[in-house]
Amino acid sequence: MSEKKCPSCSGVMELSKSGRKWICPYCNEEIANDIKESEIELKDGLPLNIFYLEKDMAEDNFKKDTKELLKSLKYCLNELKTLERIETYMKKLMADTDSYGSDDMEGVHKELANVARERLGDELKQDERIILYTENGMFARRKEFNVITDKRCFFVNKKDYIQIKHTDIVDIKVDTTFGMPSWYLNGDYKKSITSNCTDNRMLGAIIAIVCLLSFKNDTERERIRLV
Ligand SMILES: [Zn+2]
Repeated sequence: MSEKKCPSCSGVMELSKSGRKWICPYCNEEIANDIKESEIELKDGLPLNIFYLEKDMAEDNFKKDTKELLKSLKYCLNELKTLERIETYMKKLMADTDSYGSDDMEGVHKELANVARERLGDELKQDERIILYTENGMFARRKEFNVITDKRCFFVNKKDYIQIKHTDIVDIKVDTTFGMPSWYLNGDYKKSITSNCTDNRMLGAIIAIVCLLSFKNDTERERIRLV
C-alpha cells in the first residue's frame, strides 16, 4: 500500500482500525477511505469488510438448512446490500405467516409489534423502530419472542428479557448442533435466534440486517467474528 500524505501537514497518515478512514497522527486530520465495491474481498462468499471468518464457512460443509441460511445471508449482503432492500426481502418472507410482525412494513402483522411494545414498555425509546418480531417457538406464542429494532436485539421469555445493542456484537456463532441452524451472539446461548422460526432464509436476513446496523451505528467498529 502506498503512503498517504496528510493534506494539512504532509505527515504520513495511518489507516483507522476499521479501515474506513485515514487519520493523521500529527494533526488528527481525518479523511474517509471509501472502499470501492470492487475492492471488497469475499471469503467463502462472505464480505471481509464486515466479518473475520474464524471457521470455514463454505456452504458445502453444512447441511441443507444451514446452506439455505448462508445463501440468504450472502444474497442480502452481496446482492441486496441496503437495509431498505433487505427489509423488502424480509417482508416477502413474512407473507402468509403470523409468526412475524413489524412496525411499518405494509401487509405485515403490526399487532405483533404492539405485543412487543407492551411487553418492553419504557425500555423501547420513542424513536426506536421495530424491524422484526419473531416468535420463539410454537408453544409460547406471544410470550416468548425476539425483537430486532434499529438499535438492538431483545430476547424475551415468559419471565423477563435480555438485550444486546447491535454495536456490542463481537461475534456470531452459526450453530447446527441440533440439526437446524440457530445463531448466538457473543457466545451467549440466551442471545440466540433459533430455527424455531421456520424459515432459514429469514435467519440469514436477520444476521445480515443486524450486522449492517452494527456498522451503521458505529462506523469505526471492528469486524464481526464468525465463530
Ligand atoms: Zn496532518
